[in-house]
Amino acid sequence: MKRIVILGGGESGTGAAILAKQQNYDVFVSDCGNIKEQYKCELDAHGIAWEEGGHTTELILNADEVVKSPGIPNSAPLIVALTNQGTPVISEIEFAARFTNAQFICITGSNGKTTTTSLVYHIMRQAGLDVGIGGNIGQSLARQVAQQQHNFYVLELSSFQLDNMYKFRAHIAILLNITPDHLDRYEHDFMKYARAKMRVTQNQTPDDYFIYWHDDTTIRTLTESYDIKAQILAFSVNDNQYELPDHNFLSWLQKPDSLQIKGLHNLYNAIAATLAAQKIGIDNETIKKALSSFKPVEHRLEYVRTVNGVRFINDSKATNVDSCYYALESMTTPVVLILGGKDKGNDYTQIDQLVKDKVKTLVFMGLHNEPLNEHFGKAGIKIIDTNNINDAISAAYHNASDGDTVLLSPCCASFDLFKSYEDRGKQFKDIVNKL
Ligand code: ADP
Repeated sequence: MKRIVILGGGESGTGAAILAKQQNYDVFVSDCGNIKEQYKCELDAHGIAWEEGGHTTELILNADEVVKSPGIPNSAPLIVALTNQGTPVISEIEFAARFTNAQFICITGSNGKTTTTSLVYHIMRQAGLDVGIGGNIGQSLARQVAQQQHNFYVLELSSFQLDNMYKFRAHIAILLNITPDHLDRYEHDFMKYARAKMRVTQNQTPDDYFIYWHDDTTIRTLTESYDIKAQILAFSVNDNQYELPDHNFLSWLQKPDSLQIKGLHNLYNAIAATLAAQKIGIDNETIKKALSSFKPVEHRLEYVRTVNGVRFINDSKATNVDSCYYALESMTTPVVLILGGKDKGNDYTQIDQLVKDKVKTLVFMGLHNEPLNEHFGKAGIKIIDTNNINDAISAAYHNASDGDTVLLSPCCASFDLFKSYEDRGKQFKDIVNKL
C-alpha cells in the first residue's frame, strides 16, 4: 500500500485525505497549526490518522508522495528535506486530477481570479452543464472528485498551487494579468512569480485553449518565449487586431447597463469568461443572459449603502496596488479613499495619477502608516491618519460630501488589524450599515 502524507489539514488537505483513503492509500495528515473541529471529525469518520500542533518528521519522511497545502512555502525545512530525498511533493489539484476524466477550466492571474472563476461557473450553470467550482474557492477539488464527480470543473489557481503541479492539464487556461504580488515567496524575483503563473499552460495540447490579456507585457513576452501547444486567444480592447470575442459582442459588453460588475477590469474578466464559454460551445444568447445576471462577488467593489448622498464601496479584497488601480479607474465621482494595512513592500507610483485626478481625501488605516505618509505626503491631498476601522470610516464619512464615494480599497493585506480581508470587509459593512 502506498503511503501518502498530507501537509495541512484545511479544506484542501482534508479533501485530499478523503480521496486518498478512497483510493486505498495509507493516509496521514499533519498540520503544524490547529485543525478545525469539523475537519478532525471528518478525518476520524474516515479512519484517517492525523496530528496537529507540529510535524512528526519520521511519520512524514517515509511517505511515497506528499500533498502540500499551498500555504506552506517550498522553502520550509520539511519540504526541503522531502525534496532532497526525492519524495514528490504535489498540490491537492495535481493529486485530485488523477482520479477524474473531467475537463478543467483554470483561471489564474494576480487579480480577478475569483471574479472570473465565479463568472465562468455561473455561465456554465446557466447553460445547464454539469460543473463544479474549486481551487481557492468553495469545496476542494479532491473532495468533489471523491464525493460528487462533475463533467467540468472551473478552478481558481494561485501561483502557490501551480508551483506543485506537474502533469495536470487544463483544457482551457485563462491568465488574466501578472503584476507584483507575493514576491516574498519567490525570492523577490518577479520573473519567478511570473513563470509560476505560466505553468497553467504546461501539458496543454492543440485541443486546448490558452486565453490571456494581450495588453499585459509580461504575459505577452513570456508567451512568445514558451512553446505553447494550445490554441491561443489573446484579447485586448485597445488593439482591434485582438478584438475578441467579436466586435458586436464586445460592443454589447461595453454598454453601461449590460453587466452588474463595473469597471475596466471587470470588462476584461467578462471577456475572458465569454471566450472560455464560447469554446465550451455555449451560445452567445445564453452567455449574455448569464453575464447580465451575475452579481459582484462579496468584498470586490461591492456597493454597501448610500448615506446622505455618500456612496460606500467595499473593495477589501484589493490587497495589492494593481487592484486598487482598477477600483479607482472605475470611479465616476470624487473619492475618499481608505488605504493601508500590512504593506508588502508596495510601490504606490502606479496609482499616483488616479489619486491626483479622483481622490479628494486619503484616509490611512493601519498600525504602520509611515510608508503611505512617505509616498503621498507631498501629493497636496488632504491626509487623515487613523489606526482602527471605526476612526477610518468616521473620518472618511465626515470628509465626504453629497455625491462622493467612500472607497475601501486598501492596497495592503489585512493582518495588522483584522483576521482576513473578509473580516475587514465585514467590519466595514457592519459599521457603514449603522451610520
Ligand atoms: P483574486 O481572486 O485574483 O484576488 P478577485 O476577483 O478576488 O481576484 O479581485 C480582487 C481585487 O482585484 C478586487 O478588489 C478587484 O477590484 C480587483 N480586480 C478584479 N479583476 C481584476 C483585473 N482583471 N485586473 C486588475 N484588478 C482586478
